[in-house]
Amino acid sequence: PDEVYTERTTESLAHMERAREVMPGGMTANIKHFTPYPLAIQRAEGCRFYDMDGNEYIDYLMGYGSLILGHGHPHVREAMMRQIEEDGTWLFGTPHEREVTMARRIQKYFPSMEQIRYANSGTEANLLATRLAMARTGKYKIAKFEGHYHGAIDSLLVSVHPPQTDAGFHEGPHAVPDSGGMSSEVVDNAIILPFNDAKSCARILEQHKDELAAVIIEPMEGGVIAPKSHFLQKLRQITEKLGILLIFDEVKTAFRTAMEGVQGIYNVTPDLTTIGKVVGGGFPFGVVGGKAEIMERSSPLRGSDIFAGESSPEQQPCEKALFHSGTYNGHPLILAAGLATLDILESEFESLVMRTDRFREELSRIFKKHGIPMKTVGSGAMFSVLLTERNEINHYRDMQACDHDSRKKLDKSLFEAGVYTKPGNRYSLSVAHDDQALMQTLQAYDRVVPEALL
Ligand code: PMP
Repeated sequence: PDEVYTERTTESLAHMERAREVMPGGMTANIKHFTPYPLAIQRAEGCRFYDMDGNEYIDYLMGYGSLILGHGHPHVREAMMRQIEEDGTWLFGTPHEREVTMARRIQKYFPSMEQIRYANSGTEANLLATRLAMARTGKYKIAKFEGHYHGAIDSLLVSVHPPQTDAGFHEGPHAVPDSGGMSSEVVDNAIILPFNDAKSCARILEQHKDELAAVIIEPMEGGVIAPKSHFLQKLRQITEKLGILLIFDEVKTAFRTAMEGVQGIYNVTPDLTTIGKVVGGGFPFGVVGGKAEIMERSSPLRGSDIFAGESSPEQQPCEKALFHSGTYNGHPLILAAGLATLDILESEFESLVMRTDRFREELSRIFKKHGIPMKTVGSGAMFSVLLTERNEINHYRDMQACDHDSRKKLDKSLFEAGVYTKPGNRYSLSVAHDDQALMQTLQAYDRVVPEALL
Protein backbone atom coordinates (compact mmCIF):
# COMPACT_ATOMS: atom_id res chain seq x y z
CA PRO A 1 0.00 0.00 0.00
CA ASP A 2 2.89 2.42 0.57
CA GLU A 3 3.60 2.65 -3.17
CA VAL A 4 0.01 3.50 -4.02
CA TYR A 5 -0.03 5.93 -1.09
CA THR A 6 3.09 7.72 -2.30
CA GLU A 7 1.70 8.04 -5.82
CA ARG A 8 -1.53 9.66 -4.59
CA THR A 9 0.03 11.99 -2.06
CA THR A 10 2.99 13.70 -3.73
CA GLU A 11 1.97 17.12 -2.35
CA SER A 12 1.84 15.77 1.22
CA LEU A 13 5.35 14.37 0.75
CA ALA A 14 6.60 17.67 -0.68
CA HIS A 15 5.01 19.44 2.27
CA MET A 16 6.65 17.13 4.79
CA GLU A 17 10.04 17.73 3.18
CA ARG A 18 9.55 21.48 3.60
CA ALA A 19 8.27 21.00 7.15
CA ARG A 20 11.31 18.95 8.14
CA GLU A 21 13.51 21.93 7.37
CA VAL A 22 11.88 23.93 10.15
CA MET A 23 10.56 21.42 12.69
CA PRO A 24 11.84 18.12 14.09
CA GLY A 25 10.38 15.32 11.98
CA GLY A 26 8.24 17.94 10.22
CA MET A 27 5.76 17.66 13.12
CA THR A 28 4.26 19.92 15.73
CA ALA A 29 3.08 16.88 17.70
CA ASN A 30 4.65 13.42 17.56
CA ILE A 31 1.22 11.81 17.49
CA LYS A 32 0.67 13.14 13.96
CA HIS A 33 3.44 10.94 12.61
CA PHE A 34 3.03 7.69 10.74
CA THR A 35 5.08 5.96 8.06
CA PRO A 36 6.05 6.70 5.37
CA TYR A 37 4.75 10.24 6.09
CA PRO A 38 1.38 11.65 7.19
CA LEU A 39 -1.20 13.26 4.96
CA ALA A 40 -1.16 17.05 4.99
CA ILE A 41 -4.74 18.29 5.10
CA GLN A 42 -5.80 21.51 3.47
CA ARG A 43 -9.54 21.90 3.87
CA ALA A 44 -12.49 20.28 5.62
CA GLU A 45 -16.27 20.30 5.66
CA GLY A 46 -18.70 18.28 7.77
CA CYS A 47 -17.38 14.72 8.05
CA ARG A 48 -14.95 15.08 5.15
CA PHE A 49 -11.52 16.53 4.61
CA TYR A 50 -9.22 17.03 1.64
CA ASP A 51 -5.45 16.60 1.44
CA MET A 52 -3.01 18.80 -0.48
CA ASP A 53 -3.40 16.62 -3.57
CA GLY A 54 -7.16 17.16 -3.48
CA ASN A 55 -7.98 13.59 -2.33
CA GLU A 56 -11.21 13.41 -0.35
CA TYR A 57 -11.56 11.42 2.89
CA ILE A 58 -14.33 10.72 5.36
CA ASP A 59 -12.61 11.75 8.59
CA TYR A 60 -12.94 9.43 11.60
CA LEU A 61 -10.11 11.03 13.55
CA MET A 62 -12.21 14.15 14.15
CA GLY A 63 -9.45 16.09 15.86
CA TYR A 64 -8.69 13.12 18.17
CA GLY A 65 -12.33 13.03 19.16
CA SER A 66 -12.77 16.75 19.79
CA LEU A 67 -14.97 17.59 16.81
CA ILE A 68 -18.17 15.80 17.75
CA LEU A 69 -20.23 18.07 15.46
CA GLY A 70 -17.88 17.54 12.52
CA HIS A 71 -15.81 20.20 10.78
CA GLY A 72 -17.06 23.79 10.63
CA HIS A 73 -20.50 23.24 12.16
CA PRO A 74 -22.60 26.34 11.37
CA HIS A 75 -23.96 26.69 14.93
CA VAL A 76 -20.45 26.87 16.40
CA ARG A 77 -19.28 29.20 13.66
CA GLU A 78 -22.24 31.55 14.21
CA ALA A 79 -21.84 31.48 18.00
CA MET A 80 -18.20 32.50 17.68
CA MET A 81 -18.88 35.25 15.15
CA ARG A 82 -21.76 36.58 17.28
CA GLN A 83 -19.54 36.55 20.33
CA ILE A 84 -16.83 38.57 18.63
CA GLU A 85 -19.48 41.09 17.52
CA GLU A 86 -21.02 41.37 20.99
CA ASP A 87 -17.82 41.28 23.02
CA GLY A 88 -15.80 43.42 20.64
CA THR A 89 -12.78 41.21 21.34
CA TRP A 90 -11.76 37.60 21.91
CA LEU A 91 -9.86 37.90 25.17
CA PHE A 92 -10.69 39.80 28.35
CA GLY A 93 -8.16 38.51 30.87
CA THR A 94 -10.80 39.21 33.56
CA PRO A 95 -13.75 37.27 35.01
CA HIS A 96 -16.73 37.18 32.64
CA GLU A 97 -20.19 35.71 32.42
CA ARG A 98 -19.59 32.76 30.09
CA GLU A 99 -17.18 31.25 32.63
CA VAL A 100 -20.12 30.71 34.96
CA THR A 101 -22.54 29.67 32.20
CA MET A 102 -20.15 26.91 31.10
CA ALA A 103 -19.52 25.75 34.68
CA ARG A 104 -23.26 25.39 35.27
CA ARG A 105 -23.71 23.55 31.97
CA ILE A 106 -20.94 21.09 32.84
CA GLN A 107 -22.45 20.52 36.29
CA LYS A 108 -25.75 19.57 34.71
CA TYR A 109 -24.00 16.42 33.41
CA PHE A 110 -21.17 16.13 35.97
CA PRO A 111 -22.67 16.92 39.37
CA SER A 112 -19.46 15.62 41.01
CA MET A 113 -17.71 18.76 39.68
CA GLU A 114 -18.99 21.00 42.48
CA GLN A 115 -16.39 23.69 41.76
CA ILE A 116 -14.66 24.18 38.46
CA ARG A 117 -11.48 25.66 37.02
CA TYR A 118 -10.48 26.05 33.36
CA ALA A 119 -7.18 25.31 31.65
CA ASN A 120 -5.99 25.14 28.04
CA SER A 121 -5.64 21.40 27.47
CA GLY A 122 -6.26 18.02 29.03
CA THR A 123 -2.61 17.95 30.04
CA GLU A 124 -2.93 21.18 31.99
CA ALA A 125 -6.16 20.04 33.59
CA ASN A 126 -4.46 16.88 34.87
CA LEU A 127 -1.49 18.89 36.13
CA LEU A 128 -3.85 21.02 38.22
CA ALA A 129 -5.83 18.00 39.42
CA THR A 130 -2.72 16.20 40.67
CA ARG A 131 -1.41 19.31 42.39
CA LEU A 132 -4.78 19.86 44.07
CA ALA A 133 -4.66 16.28 45.34
CA MET A 134 -1.16 16.82 46.75
CA ALA A 135 -2.19 20.08 48.42
CA ARG A 136 -5.24 18.46 49.94
CA THR A 137 -3.50 15.34 51.29
CA GLY A 138 0.02 16.60 52.01
CA LYS A 139 1.26 13.50 50.14
CA TYR A 140 3.19 13.72 46.88
CA LYS A 141 2.87 10.59 44.75
CA ILE A 142 0.19 9.75 42.20
CA ALA A 143 -0.61 6.17 41.19
CA LYS A 144 -1.61 5.58 37.56
CA PHE A 145 -2.63 2.63 35.40
CA GLU A 146 -0.56 0.84 32.79
CA GLY A 147 -1.58 2.01 29.32
CA HIS A 148 -3.40 5.17 30.46
CA TYR A 149 -2.48 8.54 28.94
CA HIS A 150 -2.97 11.75 30.86
CA GLY A 151 -0.83 14.17 28.87
CA ALA A 152 2.79 15.22 28.87
CA ILE A 153 3.30 15.46 32.63
CA ASP A 154 6.52 13.78 33.77
CA SER A 155 5.03 11.82 36.66
CA LEU A 156 2.18 10.53 34.45
CA LEU A 157 4.19 9.92 31.27
CA VAL A 158 5.22 6.53 32.58
CA SER A 159 4.03 3.12 31.32
CA VAL A 160 1.64 4.67 28.81
CA HIS A 161 2.99 2.53 25.96
CA PRO A 162 5.35 0.05 27.63
CA PRO A 163 6.77 -2.64 25.34
CA GLN A 164 5.08 -6.01 25.24
CA THR A 165 5.79 -8.07 28.34
CA ASP A 166 4.06 -10.75 30.36
CA ALA A 167 5.92 -9.82 33.52
CA GLY A 168 4.25 -8.57 36.63
CA PHE A 169 0.79 -7.40 35.68
CA HIS A 170 -1.06 -8.53 38.77
CA GLU A 171 1.98 -8.01 41.00
CA GLY A 172 2.15 -4.41 39.81
CA PRO A 173 3.34 -3.48 36.31
CA HIS A 174 6.89 -2.11 35.94
CA ALA A 175 7.32 1.61 35.44
CA VAL A 176 8.69 2.38 31.97
CA PRO A 177 9.34 5.99 30.89
CA ASP A 178 7.54 7.08 27.72
CA SER A 179 9.91 9.90 26.89
CA GLY A 180 13.54 10.87 26.81
CA GLY A 181 14.55 13.69 29.13
CA MET A 182 12.90 12.24 32.22
CA SER A 183 14.90 11.69 35.37
CA SER A 184 15.25 8.18 36.78
CA GLU A 185 13.76 9.58 39.99
CA VAL A 186 10.43 10.11 38.22
CA VAL A 187 10.40 6.51 37.06
CA ASP A 188 11.56 5.13 40.42
CA ASN A 189 8.76 7.02 42.17
CA ALA A 190 6.03 5.85 39.78
CA ILE A 191 3.37 3.50 41.09
CA ILE A 192 1.67 1.61 38.26
CA LEU A 193 -1.63 -0.23 38.65
CA PRO A 194 -3.30 -3.01 36.62
CA PHE A 195 -6.68 -2.01 35.10
CA ASN A 196 -9.68 -4.19 35.90
CA ASP A 197 -7.88 -6.00 38.73
CA ALA A 198 -9.34 -4.56 41.93
CA LYS A 199 -7.63 -7.06 44.20
CA SER A 200 -4.13 -6.18 43.00
CA CYS A 201 -4.97 -2.47 43.09
CA ALA A 202 -6.07 -2.82 46.72
CA ARG A 203 -2.81 -4.55 47.66
CA ILE A 204 -0.54 -2.06 45.86
CA LEU A 205 -2.42 0.97 47.18
CA GLU A 206 -2.34 -0.37 50.73
CA GLN A 207 1.47 -0.70 50.45
CA HIS A 208 1.87 2.91 49.32
CA LYS A 209 -1.00 4.63 51.11
CA ASP A 210 1.21 6.88 53.22
CA GLU A 211 2.85 8.48 50.18
CA LEU A 212 -0.06 8.51 47.75
CA ALA A 213 -2.06 11.68 47.17
CA ALA A 214 -4.27 10.20 44.47
CA VAL A 215 -5.01 7.54 41.93
CA ILE A 216 -5.64 8.86 38.43
CA ILE A 217 -7.50 6.66 35.94
CA GLU A 218 -9.09 6.73 32.52
CA PRO A 219 -12.26 5.06 33.81
CA MET A 220 -12.87 3.67 30.31
CA GLU A 221 -9.33 2.65 29.38
CA GLY A 222 -8.07 4.49 26.30
CA GLY A 223 -11.67 5.66 25.95
CA VAL A 224 -12.65 2.19 24.73
CA ILE A 225 -11.99 -0.64 27.22
CA ALA A 226 -14.86 -0.86 29.67
CA PRO A 227 -14.30 -1.34 33.39
CA LYS A 228 -15.43 -4.79 34.57
CA SER A 229 -18.49 -5.02 36.71
CA HIS A 230 -17.96 -3.08 39.98
CA PHE A 231 -14.26 -2.34 39.26
CA LEU A 232 -14.74 1.42 39.55
CA GLN A 233 -16.96 1.05 42.62
CA LYS A 234 -14.30 -1.09 44.29
CA LEU A 235 -11.57 1.39 43.40
CA ARG A 236 -13.73 4.12 44.91
CA GLN A 237 -14.16 2.16 48.14
CA ILE A 238 -10.46 1.24 48.41
CA THR A 239 -9.20 4.78 47.84
CA GLU A 240 -11.72 6.23 50.25
CA LYS A 241 -10.72 3.77 52.94
CA LEU A 242 -7.00 4.49 52.49
CA GLY A 243 -7.26 8.28 52.40
CA ILE A 244 -6.20 8.47 48.74
CA LEU A 245 -8.09 10.76 46.36
CA LEU A 246 -9.60 9.40 43.15
CA ILE A 247 -9.22 11.38 39.91
CA PHE A 248 -11.21 10.41 36.81
CA ASP A 249 -9.58 11.60 33.60
CA GLU A 250 -12.59 11.95 31.32
CA VAL A 251 -10.82 14.07 28.70
CA LYS A 252 -11.70 11.57 25.97
CA THR A 253 -15.00 10.32 27.37
CA ALA A 254 -16.93 13.37 28.62
CA PHE A 255 -19.71 14.18 26.12
CA ARG A 256 -18.51 11.39 23.80
CA THR A 257 -18.85 8.06 25.62
CA ALA A 258 -21.92 9.49 27.32
CA MET A 259 -23.02 13.05 28.01
CA GLU A 260 -22.48 12.26 31.71
CA GLY A 261 -19.16 10.55 31.07
CA VAL A 262 -18.10 7.18 32.42
CA GLN A 263 -18.89 8.28 35.97
CA GLY A 264 -22.50 8.81 34.89
CA ILE A 265 -22.76 5.36 33.28
CA TYR A 266 -21.29 3.51 36.29
CA ASN A 267 -22.61 5.86 38.94
CA VAL A 268 -19.28 6.38 40.68
CA THR A 269 -18.30 9.74 42.19
CA PRO A 270 -14.60 10.60 41.96
CA ASP A 271 -13.05 13.34 44.11
CA LEU A 272 -11.79 15.19 41.04
CA THR A 273 -12.58 14.97 37.32
CA THR A 274 -10.78 16.35 34.31
CA ILE A 275 -12.47 16.86 30.95
CA GLY A 276 -11.43 18.38 27.61
CA LYS A 277 -11.74 17.72 23.87
CA VAL A 278 -15.52 17.85 23.03
CA VAL A 279 -16.30 20.46 25.69
CA GLY A 280 -13.90 22.87 23.96
CA GLY A 281 -15.67 22.43 20.62
CA GLY A 282 -12.35 21.69 18.86
CA PHE A 283 -10.34 24.44 20.56
CA PRO A 284 -7.62 24.14 23.23
CA PHE A 285 -9.48 23.60 26.48
CA GLY A 286 -9.37 21.59 29.68
CA VAL A 287 -11.50 21.60 32.80
CA VAL A 288 -10.90 20.43 36.37
CA GLY A 289 -13.72 20.01 38.82
CA GLY A 290 -14.55 18.17 41.97
CA LYS A 291 -15.30 18.36 45.64
CA ALA A 292 -15.56 21.95 46.83
CA GLU A 293 -13.24 21.39 49.79
CA ILE A 294 -10.48 20.23 47.42
CA MET A 295 -11.06 22.79 44.67
CA GLU A 296 -11.15 25.58 47.30
CA ARG A 297 -7.40 25.10 47.74
CA SER A 298 -6.87 27.12 44.58
CA SER A 299 -8.94 30.10 45.76
CA PRO A 300 -6.88 33.31 46.00
CA LEU A 301 -9.23 34.29 48.85
CA ARG A 302 -7.35 31.74 51.00
CA GLY A 303 -4.37 34.02 51.39
CA SER A 304 -0.91 33.48 50.10
CA ASP A 305 -1.29 33.23 46.36
CA ILE A 306 1.88 34.63 44.78
CA PHE A 307 -0.21 36.83 42.48
CA ALA A 308 -3.04 37.72 44.86
CA GLY A 309 -3.79 38.19 48.52
CA GLU A 310 -1.29 38.35 51.33
CA SER A 311 1.85 36.30 51.50
CA SER A 312 2.79 34.93 54.87
CA PRO A 313 6.17 33.21 55.18
CA GLU A 314 5.05 31.17 58.21
CA GLN A 315 2.44 29.25 56.25
CA GLN A 316 3.17 25.61 55.46
CA PRO A 317 3.34 24.79 51.73
CA CYS A 318 0.09 22.84 51.76
CA GLU A 319 -1.74 25.72 53.42
CA LYS A 320 -0.76 28.18 50.71
CA ALA A 321 -3.31 28.93 48.05
CA LEU A 322 -2.54 26.54 45.27
CA PHE A 323 -1.10 28.28 42.26
CA HIS A 324 -3.35 28.06 39.23
CA SER A 325 -3.17 30.58 36.44
CA GLY A 326 -2.95 30.92 32.70
CA THR A 327 -3.16 33.82 30.26
CA TYR A 328 -5.94 32.13 28.30
CA ASN A 329 -7.89 30.37 31.07
CA GLY A 330 -11.63 30.79 30.46
CA HIS A 331 -11.03 32.12 26.95
CA PRO A 332 -14.36 33.73 25.95
CA LEU A 333 -14.34 32.52 22.36
CA ILE A 334 -13.47 28.94 23.30
CA LEU A 335 -16.27 28.90 25.86
CA ALA A 336 -18.65 30.17 23.16
CA ALA A 337 -17.56 27.31 20.86
CA GLY A 338 -17.90 24.75 23.66
CA LEU A 339 -21.34 25.97 24.71
CA ALA A 340 -22.57 25.98 21.11
CA THR A 341 -21.27 22.41 20.74
CA LEU A 342 -23.16 21.26 23.84
CA ASP A 343 -26.35 23.04 22.57
CA ILE A 344 -26.43 20.83 19.51
CA LEU A 345 -25.25 17.69 21.29
CA GLU A 346 -28.08 17.87 23.80
CA SER A 347 -30.56 17.05 21.07
CA GLU A 348 -28.29 15.00 18.78
CA PHE A 349 -26.29 12.78 21.10
CA GLU A 350 -28.74 9.93 21.41
CA SER A 351 -29.17 9.47 17.68
CA LEU A 352 -25.40 9.78 17.18
CA VAL A 353 -24.87 6.86 19.55
CA MET A 354 -27.56 4.82 17.81
CA ARG A 355 -25.92 5.45 14.43
CA THR A 356 -22.51 4.53 15.86
CA ASP A 357 -23.86 1.25 17.29
CA ARG A 358 -25.45 0.32 13.97
CA PHE A 359 -22.27 1.19 12.11
CA ARG A 360 -20.22 -1.04 14.44
CA GLU A 361 -22.62 -3.93 13.89
CA GLU A 362 -22.39 -3.52 10.12
CA LEU A 363 -18.58 -3.43 10.27
CA SER A 364 -18.56 -6.65 12.29
CA ARG A 365 -20.85 -8.25 9.76
CA ILE A 366 -18.45 -7.41 6.92
CA PHE A 367 -15.45 -8.94 8.71
CA LYS A 368 -17.49 -12.03 9.52
CA LYS A 369 -18.52 -12.38 5.90
CA HIS A 370 -14.86 -12.37 4.86
CA GLY A 371 -13.91 -14.77 7.66
CA ILE A 372 -11.54 -12.37 9.43
CA PRO A 373 -11.65 -12.25 13.23
CA MET A 374 -12.46 -8.74 14.42
CA LYS A 375 -13.94 -7.14 17.46
CA THR A 376 -14.98 -3.57 18.14
CA VAL A 377 -14.57 -2.13 21.63
CA GLY A 378 -15.91 1.16 22.87
CA SER A 379 -19.03 2.93 23.90
CA GLY A 380 -21.08 5.92 22.80
CA ALA A 381 -19.68 7.72 19.77
CA MET A 382 -16.16 6.23 19.90
CA PHE A 383 -14.79 2.77 19.30
CA SER A 384 -11.75 0.84 18.15
CA VAL A 385 -11.46 -1.87 15.51
CA LEU A 386 -9.34 -4.74 16.85
CA LEU A 387 -8.08 -7.59 14.70
CA THR A 388 -8.20 -10.39 17.24
CA GLU A 389 -9.81 -13.70 18.06
CA ARG A 390 -10.09 -12.81 21.74
CA ASN A 391 -13.53 -12.54 23.20
CA GLU A 392 -12.51 -10.34 26.08
CA ILE A 393 -10.38 -7.23 26.07
CA ASN A 394 -9.80 -6.21 29.66
CA HIS A 395 -6.72 -4.02 29.65
CA TYR A 396 -3.72 -2.61 27.79
CA ARG A 397 -1.97 -5.96 27.46
CA ASP A 398 -4.99 -7.61 25.83
CA MET A 399 -5.15 -4.66 23.47
CA GLN A 400 -1.43 -4.88 22.75
CA ALA A 401 -1.77 -8.56 21.76
CA CYS A 402 -4.11 -7.66 18.85
CA ASP A 403 -2.78 -7.56 15.29
CA HIS A 404 -1.90 -3.87 15.03
CA ASP A 405 0.33 -4.24 11.98
CA SER A 406 -2.55 -5.63 9.90
CA ARG A 407 -4.88 -2.97 11.28
CA LYS A 408 -2.49 -0.24 10.16
CA LYS A 409 -2.12 -1.88 6.75
CA LEU A 410 -5.89 -1.99 6.43
CA ASP A 411 -6.20 1.67 7.46
CA LYS A 412 -3.72 2.71 4.78
CA SER A 413 -5.60 0.71 2.15
CA LEU A 414 -8.77 2.45 3.28
CA PHE A 415 -7.19 5.84 2.48
CA GLU A 416 -7.40 4.93 -1.17
CA ALA A 417 -11.11 4.28 -0.74
CA GLY A 418 -11.53 7.67 0.94
CA VAL A 419 -11.75 6.58 4.60
CA TYR A 420 -9.43 8.20 7.12
CA THR A 421 -8.35 7.68 10.63
CA LYS A 422 -4.74 7.87 11.69
CA PRO A 423 -3.55 4.28 11.13
CA GLY A 424 -4.35 2.22 14.21
CA ASN A 425 -6.37 4.97 15.88
CA ARG A 426 -9.86 4.99 17.33
CA TYR A 427 -12.96 5.84 15.32
CA SER A 428 -14.68 8.98 16.54
CA LEU A 429 -18.01 9.67 14.89
CA SER A 430 -19.67 13.07 14.65
CA VAL A 431 -23.19 14.31 14.02
CA ALA A 432 -21.95 15.16 10.51
CA HIS A 433 -21.40 11.46 9.66
CA ASP A 434 -24.63 10.96 7.75
CA ASP A 435 -26.02 7.72 6.30
CA GLN A 436 -24.35 8.37 2.98
CA ALA A 437 -20.90 8.70 4.56
CA LEU A 438 -21.39 5.63 6.74
CA MET A 439 -22.63 3.58 3.78
CA GLN A 440 -19.67 4.72 1.68
CA THR A 441 -17.36 3.65 4.52
CA LEU A 442 -18.98 0.21 4.81
CA GLN A 443 -18.69 -0.32 1.06
CA ALA A 444 -15.02 0.68 1.24
CA TYR A 445 -14.42 -1.83 4.05
CA ASP A 446 -16.23 -4.56 2.14
CA ARG A 447 -13.90 -4.05 -0.80
CA VAL A 448 -10.65 -3.40 1.06
CA VAL A 449 -10.81 -5.98 3.88
CA PRO A 450 -10.26 -9.05 1.67
CA GLU A 451 -7.66 -7.21 -0.47
CA ALA A 452 -5.61 -6.03 2.49
CA LEU A 453 -6.02 -8.90 4.92
CA LEU A 454 -6.45 -12.15 3.00
N1 PMP B 1 -6.11 12.63 29.09
C1 PMP B 1 -6.65 11.81 28.16
C2 PMP B 1 -7.46 10.65 28.63
C3 PMP B 1 -6.44 12.06 26.82
O1 PMP B 1 -6.97 11.24 25.90
C4 PMP B 1 -5.67 13.18 26.43
C5 PMP B 1 -5.41 13.51 24.97
N2 PMP B 1 -5.58 12.52 24.07
C6 PMP B 1 -5.14 13.99 27.43
C7 PMP B 1 -5.39 13.70 28.74
C8 PMP B 1 -4.31 15.18 27.09
O2 PMP B 1 -5.10 16.17 26.54
P1 PMP B 1 -4.46 17.33 25.64
O3 PMP B 1 -3.95 16.67 24.40
O4 PMP B 1 -5.60 18.28 25.42
O5 PMP B 1 -3.37 17.93 26.46
